[in-house]
Amino acid sequence: MNIVFDTDLINRYDNTGPRYTSYPTAVEFSEEFTEAHYRNAALETNEDPIPRPLSLYFHIPFCESVCFYCACNKVVTKNRSRAESYLGYLKKEIEFQSELFNHDRKVLQLHWGGGTPTYFNPTQITELMAHTRQQFDLLEDDSGDYSIEIDPRTAQADTIPFLRDMGFNRISFGIQDFDPTVQKAVNRVQSTEQVETLFMQARRASVRSINVDLIYGLPFQSVASFEKTLDHTIALSPDRLSIFNYAHLPRLFRPQRNINAEDLPSAAEKLAIFKMSIDKLVQAGYVYIGMDHFAKPDDELAIAQSEGKLFRNFQGYTLLGDCDLVGMGQSAISQVDDVYCQHVKTEDQYAAAIEAGQIGIQRGVALNFDDKIRRAVIMQLMCDFSLDIKKFESKSNILFSQYFNQELAKLKPMQEDGLVQITDTEITVAPSGRLLVRNICQIFDAYRQGTTNISYFSKTI
Ligand code: SF4
Repeated sequence: MNIVFDTDLINRYDNTGPRYTSYPTAVEFSEEFTEAHYRNAALETNEDPIPRPLSLYFHIPFCESVCFYCACNKVVTKNRSRAESYLGYLKKEIEFQSELFNHDRKVLQLHWGGGTPTYFNPTQITELMAHTRQQFDLLEDDSGDYSIEIDPRTAQADTIPFLRDMGFNRISFGIQDFDPTVQKAVNRVQSTEQVETLFMQARRASVRSINVDLIYGLPFQSVASFEKTLDHTIALSPDRLSIFNYAHLPRLFRPQRNINAEDLPSAAEKLAIFKMSIDKLVQAGYVYIGMDHFAKPDDELAIAQSEGKLFRNFQGYTLLGDCDLVGMGQSAISQVDDVYCQHVKTEDQYAAAIEAGQIGIQRGVALNFDDKIRRAVIMQLMCDFSLDIKKFESKSNILFSQYFNQELAKLKPMQEDGLVQITDTEITVAPSGRLLVRNICQIFDAYRQGTTNISYFSKTI
């Protein structure tokens, strides 16, 4: 058992916190960081003795209808011409970005997210993929990690074989819940049969890895109802599973105002749903990766974690940590060398930037020495649940006990509570602390000192 669900500890450490897909988090990005900074940083990466490979992310924001729980950057419209003009801008951006990176830098990872990437029709998908191939060095032997998010409601009988032909070898299905009452309450109705058919198509097309996203904490969910959703899901045998915690923040996310707070499960019921989910997935043979992610033991993610080769970036847990991540499209985030930055967030702002010959970078941050040290600690704890202090000292040139004197003192109560074990040579997150790893990481976050329960972060559990 690599994880212990301790209700008492979880209630005691009930808090909000970042998901640490970056450090510093996006909240710390500033508009003092400009597009010129990004361009310089990107160009400089070509001067490294061995320039890193690339990971490309495309944000395709369009959706046919709105899911009431949604907190994503999206454009809900049935007007398809908007997607056509967005595609034009995206192609322009691909050209601008490709000028910044040497053309022999291989694209090891590609991800299309949204919104709904399959809102683009097959002609548009073909066009975008062909343009990417023209401008960047994509791998042609299926060895890349090329993934796409699919809303099962938008997929036709030939969608999966078509995407496979396009070069995608990983697929992520947004299912959320199979229960018709829950689906109706969140305005996302899709049948179990629809999803089963897509799974069969994906297996037939030799898709290398299938991920499923579920959400707990939605209206009308209960332990019994969500158990049925999990039974259906486990029967489909996805390679990876994410079980996200729904955070009801209607003040921040307009679609959530359509959800009746009285229909939501109580905090105790939510915790019980999550506990049942963990028990069931562990029994079914899934390995807990971290945060809300599970994988089959023979999945690359689980293998990488057991070998200490797991990384975390804006795409979540990944095997490919040593890539420069180039985000494209509105709201997309990039991580290039020691710089993070984000695009403008609306369709109009993005169109205006591209028409002016810009990429559309709105804000970002260049990491200083302290940021880099803290990022290394946080990412290692998030991925490995342990940190070898001696190895860390020799890599980073710091004396850990001195540099993190205050943090080690703040970890003491967590140590006494059994969340973490600390010796002179190692910090280890105990099985009962793994679900609370975000709380542990916050101790090392210089921007979160003395602040708890910040409303723009989700609950750590
Ligand atoms: S959850 Fe996905 S499909 Fe639904 S509105 Fe949000 S981005 Fe669109």
